[in-house]
Amino acid sequence: MLVTISCTRPAGAAWPATDLGYLLHKNPSRRQTFEQSYGVAHVLYPEASDERCTAALLLEIDPVRLVRGKSKGTPDFSLGQYVNDRPYAASSLLSVAISTVFGTALHGRCAQRPELAGTALDLRIELPAVPCKGGPEYAERVFAPLGWTVAATPLPLDPAFPEWGDSHYVRLELTGTLRLAEALTHLYVLLPVLDGSKHYWLDTAEIDKLLRFGEGWLTAHPEREWITRRYLTRRHTLVRTALARLAELDDQDPEELGALEHDCDDEGPGTEPAVPQAVESGERAPSLAVLRRAAVHRALLTEGAGRVLDLGCGQGALLLELAADRALTEIVGIDVSMRELKIAARRVRRLPEWQARRVTVRQGALTYTDASLRGYDAAVLMEVIEHVDATRLKALEQAVFGAAAPGSVVVTTPNSEFNVRYDGLDAGAFRHSDHRFEWTRAEFADWAHRVGATHGYAARFEPVGPEDAEVGASTQMAVFTRKNNDDDAAKGAA
Ligand code: SAH
Repeated sequence: MLVTISCTRPAGAAWPATDLGYLLHKNPSRRQTFEQSYGVAHVLYPEASDERCTAALLLEIDPVRLVRGKSKGTPDFSLGQYVNDRPYAASSLLSVAISTVFGTALHGRCAQRPELAGTALDLRIELPAVPCKGGPEYAERVFAPLGWTVAATPLPLDPAFPEWGDSHYVRLELTGTLRLAEALTHLYVLLPVLDGSKHYWLDTAEIDKLLRFGEGWLTAHPEREWITRRYLTRRHTLVRTALARLAELDDQDPEELGALEHDCDDEGPGTEPAVPQAVESGERAPSLAVLRRAAVHRALLTEGAGRVLDLGCGQGALLLELAADRALTEIVGIDVSMRELKIAARRVRRLPEWQARRVTVRQGALTYTDASLRGYDAAVLMEVIEHVDATRLKALEQAVFGAAAPGSVVVTTPNSEFNVRYDGLDAGAFRHSDHRFEWTRAEFADWAHRVGATHGYAARFEPVGPEDAEVGASTQMAVFTRKNNDDDAAKGAA
């Protein structure tokens, strides 16, 4: 089992291509060997010049050890046999090897060449044999949206008997200009997805891994549902939780994401029939993301807001909804993430002109005072505060409630009490790996009353989502109204 990663030095670059060795934390002048639970991994460099450098990761799989040595962390292929394709075909074992042998690079860390770790490199990745059930087009469909030029050439079942046709293996070549860590996360997640072998992953930590390594590309990937299902093969509760959490990050209805009880092993991307979930009323329940946007929108109208800030607007789902409401005259989206903002801006540009005209997005950090945010009628912090370090939350409170001081502030955040209702979410775990905290209703109320008392706002609370008698609703919302609302000195001053 082999993967090679080649880096070509761009014309005029000051660094030699062999700096790839720093990024991978493997010296190009030495061959290194790593004992793995299923065999041995070698790292060597077939080519190492200033212009071009190729690192090869070669796995010598011991099929006997693979079958005998089942332990936590060893994928179980349930093959019950000693002859299989694992020694030759890229698969989840290669993912395991990438994470153990190139772990630091996978996380994008490189103390010696930090700027290079953050730089998109001219990369070429070759895998001589990749199991790709369903045909070579699946490789294209999962890698191409991520910026790769994909060449997937089917391998014949037996070159001596061309009439037998092609196997479900391809030779895969990926070329593109990407950061090394991105490239490795793509391989880490997508090789097992293409393989679709009958391994199973053991616990919900796999969801965290999927979300962590899929960060920055999986939420916007057109085949994300298929990838998620295949990655978490057959583990339906895991799949459901992962899709719900991905939908939390985006704005999609997790229920829309397909027939989760369906065994999808042999299906291709995009083939999942959209089976409506039966709910008690016989109608489809709107997703939490939809309910949340509706609740925030309603609160803004109740507050009589016209000029509105969406702070931490992310990919702009709320901006799009508000843009269609003529009662709102100006809508400004702010986010710290350029990546999210680009998506938001693209979505806004696609709106009808009369809607797009009233919306602007720009970058900003909510933990710093920004004079241009003063004078608005309302600000929204929808699913944002829980992403801010507890130690920085005071700075955000000061910037939003103290300095920007809009007439109203609408805040939503997860209700941690509701987490017990999510299948597969471990006790005490957060809904998303980027959450720094999740609060109970009492904790949220304490925070809101303290912030209100400090900055002169009155807070009222509203549950969002179906309410559970014991643990409440999934999302909690607070609507803050500035107490001296008649004193409009701050409004319109900007
Ligand atoms: N409000 C959006 C996105 C929520 S995700 C929605 O509900 O769909 C949280 C967002 O907050 C992310 O887009 C993140 O980039 C942004 N964010 C987190 N900390 C921030 C900060 N300090 N300043 C600005 N944006 C921040």
